[in-house]
Amino acid sequence: MLKVTSLKIKGFETVVVGKDPSSHFHGIIAVHSTQLGPALGGIRMWPYRNEKEGLQDVLRLATAMTKKAAISGLPMGGGKAVIIGDPTKDKTRDLLLSMGELIESLHGDYIAAKDSGILPEDLDIVSEKTPHVTGTTKKQGGSGDPSLATAKGVIAGMQAACQVVFGTKSLKGRVVAIQGIGHVGWNVGNLLWKKGATLFVADPQSSRVKRAQQTWKASVVPLARIHRVPADIFAPCALGGIMNADTIPQLRARIVAGGANNQFLDEKEDPYLLMKRNILHVPDYVLNAGGLIYLVVREILHQRRLAPWMSNIERTVKQVLAASLQEQLPPLVVANRMALQRLEFH
Ligand code: NAD
Repeated sequence: MLKVTSLKIKGFETVVVGKDPSSHFHGIIAVHSTQLGPALGGIRMWPYRNEKEGLQDVLRLATAMTKKAAISGLPMGGGKAVIIGDPTKDKTRDLLLSMGELIESLHGDYIAAKDSGILPEDLDIVSEKTPHVTGTTKKQGGSGDPSLATAKGVIAGMQAACQVVFGTKSLKGRVVAIQGIGHVGWNVGNLLWKKGATLFVADPQSSRVKRAQQTWKASVVPLARIHRVPADIFAPCALGGIMNADTIPQLRARIVAGGANNQFLDEKEDPYLLMKRNILHVPDYVLNAGGLIYLVVREILHQRRLAPWMSNIERTVKQVLAASLQEQLPPLVVANRMALQRLEFH
């Protein structure tokens, strides 16, 4: 049986931990804010070493979802869920059903979607216990994997950044180092390849890097070296916290723009470190909002036309970068201010 414990955490509306020994389920949902609407965010399955690590991640991710929805002009709040476990070994039908029960216990304040380690087919199983799920398979009536939409937004943001740094938005001939070629990274790589970019990739899954070598003639780099490639753009598309006091001095790219959430380990200090190195960062939650936009437009607003919403991404990236240059502030600081303004004026 699922046991649910509520945690009181300052700044968050609801945080619940669910455990079910019979399904080996141990998961957490954090609802950061429902000020603009129900809190939509993905479920991440990751082999966290303990609950504290999972809690830290879910709180950071949920906060970013509030900012992502606000800055994208969506009538949604911010939340996120994590399952503690290895998706390649521990993901079972029973475990996913327990996740569904935990979501249902929040009566719609949290709406689920996919994140790392979770597939649309997994969400189909979750949806057997709760209707508060987006991004289930098309067979199940959902709109499926949002990663292509996420990748399209990433590309739009890269183009806006190239315009600022190189004076042209063209990606032809640009050298891009992609960290992680999963759902988002693969689509980003594919779109870049079609636009004539030269690609470097790193991913622990050998079948993925082989496919990138064969399809895009990509150069494969060891995991620990991908951020050091002398590229035009470094595109983090795997993990959070990869920009930190150790890695920032090693970066050799002119732009950092990728789909991964929460890219800075220390959001107070690290954006300034990067700016001092004269490397342009496109804030992740502005750039990777395409997936959220796709799910909300299709499944919450029930609208057909995605393009007007998607074009917000490039426009917002341009606004953020222009204000950042003018005020000599890191783009993340400017984006945070813009997101906060939207929340305050609501
Ligand atoms: P995914 O699990 O499909 O892909 C992640 C990839 O990163 C995998 O191929 C994995 O093997 C690889 N990886 C793991 N550790 C790595 C390392 N040390 N170095 C290089 N690669 C590594 O996940 P995804 O859906 O592609 O999401 C990737 C990131 O983008 C996450 O941070 C997620 O929160 C964020 N994001 C995803 C979406 C979406 O639409 N899927 C939307 C917004 C943000």
